[in-house]
Amino acid sequence: QKSTVIVTGASSGVGLYAAKALADRGAHVIMACRNLEKAEAAAQELGIPEDSRTMLHIDLGSLESVRRFINSFRATGRTLEGLVCNAAIYMPLIKEPLRSPEGYELTMTTNHLGHFLLCNVMMEDMKRSLAEDKRMVILGTVTHNPDELGGKIPPRPDLGDLEGFAKGFREPVSMIDGKKFEPVKAYKDSKVCNVLTMRELHRRYHEETGITFTSLYPGCVADTPLFRNHYPLFQKIFPIFQKYITKGYVSQELAGERVAAVVLDEEYRQSGAYWSWGNRQKKGRQSFVQRVSPQARDEERAEKMWNLSLKLVELA
Ligand code: NDP
Repeated sequence: QKSTVIVTGASSGVGLYAAKALADRGAHVIMACRNLEKAEAAAQELGIPEDSRTMLHIDLGSLESVRRFINSFRATGRTLEGLVCNAAIYMPLIKEPLRSPEGYELTMTTNHLGHFLLCNVMMEDMKRSLAEDKRMVILGTVTHNPDELGGKIPPRPDLGDLEGFAKGFREPVSMIDGKKFEPVKAYKDSKVCNVLTMRELHRRYHEETGITFTSLYPGCVADTPLFRNHYPLFQKIFPIFQKYITKGYVSQELAGERVAAVVLDEEYRQSGAYWSWGNRQKKGRQSFVQRVSPQARDEERAEKMWNLSLKLVELA
């Protein structure tokens, strides 16, 4: 039987191309999307064969919807061998926080809390699969890491002491550190949480379950719709800047290939690893395991993030 791999946010960008690359490599892809019509059109346009994919609805910005998705996945009767946490929002220009139905700030909910809930509950589904090679992969990004050039541009991520999570993360709180709302920082903070989550999953569950937990930075995919909420001028200039000045630019197709490789290839079966291809792209660029940022490797913070996230998603 084919491996079944869930990809969240498979209606555009990296997730869509990852779904295509996974299907090309023989997997059955569950395209977990908030807009199924858009996802269906995108899958058809890219030529992902119908018998290699199933569309299921999920809105990661609603914990209730994540739980409904899990039920609808279970109703398909499929086993689960791969889970790719890819969906994300980036809202650099908003002045006031948006909220999930639970009342939590929306960027952190979509990018982190929704996936945190998904990984924790779907671990049970993965455990039930008899396959020997099973993997959970979370998309990271260079901007999570102020130690790297791409991560130095302010505002830098900072989880602080997770005061905002500890206070319940509802109005008037909007940031994990409890400070003033800053949408770009909210995105970066959520990505630090993604990396921390992957590392904690590895530390807590790899030995017991045999599941491989990894994260990756696929390169700067400067022309995905991720930047759709930015100034139009930024959207024009950013890909050119990345292509010719920083040389960090990666096509959506190549980024999708990289994700698929991390899910399926033997060389990426290394639990706890954060994979990168570096920032300067050249033809045939090889991947390597990269050290994550100081906050993303801080075990005390990881523990705190884990326990508070469990509470926020009502698993504890
Ligand atoms: P896109 O904006 O192209 O894709 C994001 C996907 O997530 C879309 O399918 C979108 O759906 C979906 N999504 C957003 N909100 C929700 C939600 N509430 N519920 C379900 N799905 C949702 O971005 P990218 O492809 O660029 O980004 C994908 C991942 O790659 C992200 O995790 C990002 O952090 C990471 N990344 C991207 C980099 C880049 O340079 N682009 C660099 C490093 C990492 P819809 O189509 O309906 O909007």
